Amino acid sequence: MALALIDPVTELTGVGPQLAGKLERLHVRRVQDVLFHLPLRYEDRTHVTELGALLPNLSTVVIGQIDVAQVVFGRRRSLLVHISDGTGSLTIRMFYFNRAQEKSFQRGLWVKCFGEVRPGLKGYEMIHPEYRISADEPEGGLDSTLTPVYPTTEGVSQALWRKLTDQVLAGALQNVDELVAIECLPAKFQAAYEAATLQEALKALHRPQAGVDLAAMQQAGSAAHQRLIIEELLAHHFSIRRSRSLRAHEQAPAMRKDIDLENRFLANLGFTLTGAQTRVSQEVAQDLANQSPAMRLIQGDVGSGKTVIAAMAMLQAVSAGTQTVLMAPTELLAEQHFRTLSDWFGALGISIGWLASKTPAKEKRQTLEQLASGELLVAVGTHALIQESVVYQNLGLVVIDEQHRFGVEQRLALRAKTPAGKVPHQLAMTATPIPRTLAMTFYADLDVSSIDELPPGRKVVETVVIPAASRRDEVIERVRQACQQGRQVYWVCPLIDESEVLEAQAATDTAEELSKRLSGLRIGLVHGRLKSKEKELVMSHFRAGEVDLLVATTVIEVGVDVPNASLMVIENAERMGLAQLHQLRGRVGRGSEQSFCLLLYQQPLSQHAKARLKTLRETNDGFVIAEKDLEIRGAGELLGTRQTGSISFKVADLIRDQHLLPSIEGIAVAVEKTTPQNVDALIERWVGTKEDYVNA
Ligand code: ADP
Ligand code: MG
Repeated sequence: MALALIDPVTELTGVGPQLAGKLERLHVRRVQDVLFHLPLRYEDRTHVTELGALLPNLSTVVIGQIDVAQVVFGRRRSLLVHISDGTGSLTIRMFYFNRAQEKSFQRGLWVKCFGEVRPGLKGYEMIHPEYRISADEPEGGLDSTLTPVYPTTEGVSQALWRKLTDQVLAGALQNVDELVAIECLPAKFQAAYEAATLQEALKALHRPQAGVDLAAMQQAGSAAHQRLIIEELLAHHFSIRRSRSLRAHEQAPAMRKDIDLENRFLANLGFTLTGAQTRVSQEVAQDLANQSPAMRLIQGDVGSGKTVIAAMAMLQAVSAGTQTVLMAPTELLAEQHFRTLSDWFGALGISIGWLASKTPAKEKRQTLEQLASGELLVAVGTHALIQESVVYQNLGLVVIDEQHRFGVEQRLALRAKTPAGKVPHQLAMTATPIPRTLAMTFYADLDVSSIDELPPGRKVVETVVIPAASRRDEVIERVRQACQQGRQVYWVCPLIDESEVLEAQAATDTAEELSKRLSGLRIGLVHGRLKSKEKELVMSHFRAGEVDLLVATTVIEVGVDVPNASLMVIENAERMGLAQLHQLRGRVGRGSEQSFCLLLYQQPLSQHAKARLKTLRETNDGFVIAEKDLEIRGAGELLGTRQTGSISFKVADLIRDQHLLPSIEGIAVAVEKTTPQNVDALIERWVGTKEDYVNA
């Protein structure tokens, strides 16, 4: 019976409703999804390696005769079996074994095993390999293809994946007509990138022949991979473009700006906008005047003055009688925005609501009521602002600080909050610019504005890299001097394995140590474990100049703005990423004083850490730093969520495959011209069905 690609998985032999349910967890619903469920890696059981020719860290098949088996009592009781084959020897080591197993390894018998070769105390070892014992020298029994290892979920074994893919490869993949119909890449590009055909590629990835370059396969470097990587990148690019064109058909409130109100706002600011700020705020104003929902990213380096742009946009929303919210990723930053906007808008008679997850119930209830009734037009807070329970009367504009993608869930959540048929305008602000290589392909759904100018009078922060072990005393002395001259100082304590509790403890210890050594200075402490009221109290003392030295965890990473602070000390800087260090450094250099950033590190420094610290010392330019970040991480480290937002790939890797990105747009244009009917198929194949990607 012929299998069609669009058949449900239950058409496959052995797949009942229960297994289908498990596969659903991996978004595998149809026969086609099985075909595109690609192995993570491969095991090579196609040949036997002589014991004299073993290489460490490779998984392989070996055959040998048992010399001796013994139980040893070292740090852990283990069973050691020595085998040899005339060319060399190997030790099999097992920590878990029973009497029967122990007995089965008789001197003179043969063992065939598969496992990873590791250097041991005396020569190579395999720990808990798969093995089979026989009386005679085993022959044959080798695979003709590499063994694929599939990404999986509980209750779906590798053997089961092999059975499913066998069926699909024998059934659907033979159905040439159908395959030609899903062949989406024009032949011209296939040749240009030495890519395989779709049929070849899928076969080669599911069942690589013995003798292929395993290293290339593991690193996704084969022609087959190339082919699928291009397809996947193309599919995401199409889906992003599609969401943009869908958006063009949606309705948002067109907002007219009240020039008088804006002028009053600007007159109160106490500074004049820079040229870049004026330009960007005009771009935003035009967006908001439109009837289709804006989706604009404002990128501007730390300290470039993004908040005032947000405020002007919000003012426009208020003038048009719609509601508007400003969201920040941390409560500390949200609090600061709340204070700033309260000052600016308070003077214009506009009141502002506050909402965060830790807001006391009574206050929260009141804010929620006022948002639902429309009595409150402006609110500031954390992402609590778009939780389900929050109802708006007429939400027209959402501003999100320090974020640079619009997540799918977020968009859906927002849609539910506006009057029927309308979608709010959205602005996101970020100090981490999008690297050029990603901009065209993966941010094609956004409009981007750049604030490429700092307010006048700023001095470049001078950055010094210092070994903590030998020069910490000197740094502490420098803190004392800065404070005695009336400056303020941040001291940032290290990241500890994502543990807020340990981090808070480290910061508390450091604050104690520093207050002993810097008697006379007023020292404050903030970390993630403090209640928001406590945090805000410390911050308000620091802002008011009543605290000289603020010891903090990375909670102060984004947004915190205290212009009199001119010295930033960062401990264990070698553990932090470039973007994070740049953000932290951006907390100083906000006034007219010369500021300094001291990066303390612990030896030994990895190559990457060295490169990061060097970059930071050499440049203050966020754009350069973002490009460098991509370059340094190019060695295979994954692009974190900070950069890719909600996109996740099956075979592509934006860092590893960045050389392909510049050509994707061109290929997309060609596909649209020659085989436009394939666009839908591509999106569906790689990005998922409509329900998965409704990010319009
Ligand atoms: P970021 O882009 O990092 O969010 P902020 O909006 O926090 O920057 O602005 C940094 C500081 O610069 C704030 O104290 C802000 O009031 C001030 N600022 C913003 N624009 C100007 C300007 N045009 N002239 C002088 N100071 C400005
Ligand atoms: Mg900011």
